[in-house]
Amino acid sequence: MAQTFEDFKLNRQILNAIDDAGYTQPTPIQEKAIGPILSGQDIMGVAQTGTGKTAAYVLPMLMKLKYAQGVDPRALILAPTRELAMQIEENIKIFAKYTDLRTVVLYGGLGPKTQIAELEKGCDIIVASPGRFLDLYLAGNINTKYLQFLVMDEADKMMDMGFIGSIHRILEVVPRKRQNLLFSATMGDLVHKIAGDFLKFPTVIEVAPQATPAQTVTQILYNVPNLKTKLNLLQHLLKNDEEFHRLIIFCKTKNVADNIFSYCERRYGTSSVRVIHANKGQNTRINSINAFKEGEVRILVATDVAARGLDVTNVSHVINFDVPIVIEDYVHRIGRTGRAYNTGTAITFCNPAETYFIKKIEKLIRQDIPIEEIPEGVFIEETPYNERQEIAKEIDIQKRKENPEFKGAFHDKKASNTKDTKKTKPGKQAKESKESFKERTAAAKKALSKGSFQGNKRGKR
Ligand code: AMP
Repeated sequence: MAQTFEDFKLNRQILNAIDDAGYTQPTPIQEKAIGPILSGQDIMGVAQTGTGKTAAYVLPMLMKLKYAQGVDPRALILAPTRELAMQIEENIKIFAKYTDLRTVVLYGGLGPKTQIAELEKGCDIIVASPGRFLDLYLAGNINTKYLQFLVMDEADKMMDMGFIGSIHRILEVVPRKRQNLLFSATMGDLVHKIAGDFLKFPTVIEVAPQATPAQTVTQILYNVPNLKTKLNLLQHLLKNDEEFHRLIIFCKTKNVADNIFSYCERRYGTSSVRVIHANKGQNTRINSINAFKEGEVRILVATDVAARGLDVTNVSHVINFDVPIVIEDYVHRIGRTGRAYNTGTAITFCNPAETYFIKKIEKLIRQDIPIEEIPEGVFIEETPYNERQEIAKEIDIQKRKENPEFKGAFHDKKASNTKDTKKTKPGKQAKESKESFKERTAAAKKALSKGSFQGNKRGKR
C-alpha cells in the first residue's frame, strides 16, 4: 500500500501541485484507487464525498493525459449538479496547475454561448452535467472521438435526478475503447444496472461499508413535536456561536429553506446567513457558497439538490431541520461535516411523521442515531391543529405504504382533534399525541416510548 504520493510514481508537476495543496498522505480511497486507475483498470468506487474521492480519480487521470493535445477532449467527467461539476473543475485546476491541460465545465441553468466559446478554444477534459453535455454534443459542439476516460461521479444522485436516459445516450456516442470509472456513495439497483452497462470487469473499491457515515461525524437526533419547537431548538443551539461557528441547515423544500433563511436573517443579521436552492440564480448560488467557504457568513441554509457535492471544509455542524425523504441524502448531508480529517456534528430534528424516514435511514446506515433529550430551556410548543392534521395524514400515508389494507386512522381522529385542540396545554397535548401516535405507527412508537415527544416539564420559558 502506498504511504505517500511519491509511491504512485506520479510525475513531478503533479507531485508539486499535491504539495502545494498541502496533502501529505493519500486518503484510503486514494491509496486503493490511484494504482489500479494508473494501470488502466475500470473502477467502481463506493465512497462518499469527504473521503478524497475526487483526487483519487483526478490525479491518475492527469498523469495519464500528461499534456495538452489537439482540440478535442480526451476525458469526460459526468456529475449530477453544477456545484459538483465546478468543484471537480476546481480540483483539476489545483492539480493541473503545473501542466498545460485544459478543462471546460458544462452545466445547464445558463445560456450555452460562453461554454461553446470555451469548447472552441480546445480542451483535454470536460466536466459536465449529463443533460448539458448531450445538448452540446447533439448541436455539434463536441467531438467525442478521442475520449479515453469516462468518469461518473455521484452516480446514485444522477440516477435519483433522472439522468439515466441521458447517460445511456452518452454511452452510445463515446468510443468503445476507453477507461471507465464510477463513483457512488450508495449502491442502489439503478446504480448497479448502470455499472453493469458501463464498466468492464471493474475493480471494486469500497472505503467504508456502503452508506456508512464518515466516522468523524457525531450524530444526534432530537425528537421534536412540531415546527415551532424546531425553531425554538434551533435558536437555542445557535446561541452557542463559539461551538456552532460554521453550519449548514438542510431543509427539504425551497419554501422551508426560504422561511428558515428569513428567520435567521431577522435574528442574526443579513450578513450572517445565505440560502441556496434551485430557484436561486446561478451567480447568487456561487456567491453564497464562496462567502460561506471564506467564512464571511456563519450559516448556509440549503436544500438537498443545491448542496450536492458542496465542498466546504471545517463545517462545525450540519443541522437537518427536516429529515430527508430521499433517505440516501442523509449520508450526503452529514458528509458536509467531518470532512477529510476534521470532526463535526450532525444534528437531526425529527417530528412524529418523520420517524418513519429515520427508521429507514438507520437501516441504510446500519446504525441507530443516538437520541438526545431536548435541552433545558427550549420551550415545547403546542402543535397547532393544522400541523397535527398534516402529521396524522402523513403517518396514515406511511402506514398505507407499508400495509395496503390499512384503512387509515386519520379520518376517525378528525372529530376528536377538532374538539380539544384549542384547550390543550403543551403537556396535555403532547400526551394525547403520544396516545394517538402509539396507535397509528410502530415507528413513531419507539421514539414516543423514549419520552421524547412528551410534554416537557422543563419547558417553561
Ligand atoms: P472529496 O471527497 O473529493 O470531496 O474531498 C473532500 C475534501 O478532502 C476536500 O476538501 C479535499 O481537498 C480534501 N482532501 C482530499 N484528499 C486529501 C488528502 N490526501 N489529504 C488531505 N485532504 C484531502
